[in-house]
Amino acid sequence: MLTKVVIANRGEIALRILRACHELGIRTVAIHSTADRDLKHVRLADESVCIGPPASIHSYLNIPAVISAAEVTDSVAIHPGYGFLSENADFAEQVEKSGFTFIGPRPETIRLMGDKVSAIKTMKKAGVPCVPGSDGPLDDDMEENARLAKGIGYPVIIKASGGGGGRGMRVVHSEATLASAISLTKTEAATAFNNDIVYMEKYLENPRHIEIQVLADTHGNAIHLGERDCSMQRRHQKVIEEAPAPGITPEIRKYIGERCAKACQDIGYRGAGTFEFLYENGEFYFIEMNTRLQVEHPVTELITGMDIVREQLLIADGEPLSVTQDDIKIQGHAMECRINAEDPDNFMPSPGTISRYHAPGGPGVRVDTHIYAGYKVPPYYDSMIGKLVTYSKDRESAINRMCIALNEMVIDGIKSNIPLHQRLLKDSEFRAGGTSIHYLEKKLAM
Ligand code: ADP
Repeated sequence: MLTKVVIANRGEIALRILRACHELGIRTVAIHSTADRDLKHVRLADESVCIGPPASIHSYLNIPAVISAAEVTDSVAIHPGYGFLSENADFAEQVEKSGFTFIGPRPETIRLMGDKVSAIKTMKKAGVPCVPGSDGPLDDDMEENARLAKGIGYPVIIKASGGGGGRGMRVVHSEATLASAISLTKTEAATAFNNDIVYMEKYLENPRHIEIQVLADTHGNAIHLGERDCSMQRRHQKVIEEAPAPGITPEIRKYIGERCAKACQDIGYRGAGTFEFLYENGEFYFIEMNTRLQVEHPVTELITGMDIVREQLLIADGEPLSVTQDDIKIQGHAMECRINAEDPDNFMPSPGTISRYHAPGGPGVRVDTHIYAGYKVPPYYDSMIGKLVTYSKDRESAINRMCIALNEMVIDGIKSNIPLHQRLLKDSEFRAGGTSIHYLEKKLAM
């Protein structure tokens, strides 16, 4: 029985996990750095443990400190949230070796999916469509690499197998720069990820980012909860997400969703996960799997009526999925705006004290945030301070509700990206739906 769970995260997601635990009657332990004593979930948790100084490396990323917190509080499980240690296979392994339940996939699965070359190989075998590419690591035979690139067709992209966060990638437009791009990416990857393995893929020039949410239990059941469109990105950071994705028909959803669910069964996946795809000219191309809860999970919750965090907890407790694929009905449309403490013009982080805060409300409005008037946004962590999510019967109406909610939302004392969202939601191409992953950056450059 999951009687007591350590929430190994901070901010809005820690609060989200706390709420799901309390709904199930599970006791919670908040762990926090010295900079985070005033976080909302720390006050609401049954217990709290300070695990270190502000720098993440000494607190939220400090594996022995996190596990000790579970030990001293007699907890039985650890929920990693997203970011921090959530996709660290060594952490998951140590959690389990120490006798706790890791609320996420098996450590082997995290390791397999964390290495992109092995992830792509596994997905191909499971029948998930991938980007045409080298199907494995590139070696030093530049003649062979040039042949490969020619076969795929330029432009190609050289990617680090251990890469993440949009780093460790290089686009190559012709053979002239291929060799140098490979060796540069290799060198960078060795330093940044301690792994110099790189591979090659066709570079898709104008794709959308569409991802499939999955859930799998420990009894061999796996389902998908449809897709999300997260194409509105800046520097590979998602800014606005929505579900369902404009233009994706029930038939397309079924085709790609079933492949993802089957892949989960093939690899013995456990918990919640996301298959990320690039989508171009009606085709899906798998790029990576996130073996954790995602920031944008609420849009899927709103259109399916599912509680993904609740399912994560139940799966970790050994329960079968509470629903079957046939129970999942996609209804309505949901939008999410990530609210960041940053300057909307130059994107510089804007930490400081929130002097006034008014939350928006009304039908179809969900606010996932830990902020309150008087809360001091620390400078040490990601600048996202909340998510504003709206739901309605169709896309246009969900966008209209978002505009109203953004107008109602007041965050004073620091700068936020609310004005940027207000501008984007008025944009005619965004309103039409289906813009590519390059759209936002092009628009910002204008
Ligand atoms: P990371 O783990 O660093 O996020 P991904 O493999 O998910 O790496 O790629 C990050 C982003 O890089 C994608 O969202 C996309 O914008 C771009 N990208 C990656 N592979 C390709 C490709 N083959 N063609 C075009 N863009 C790509």
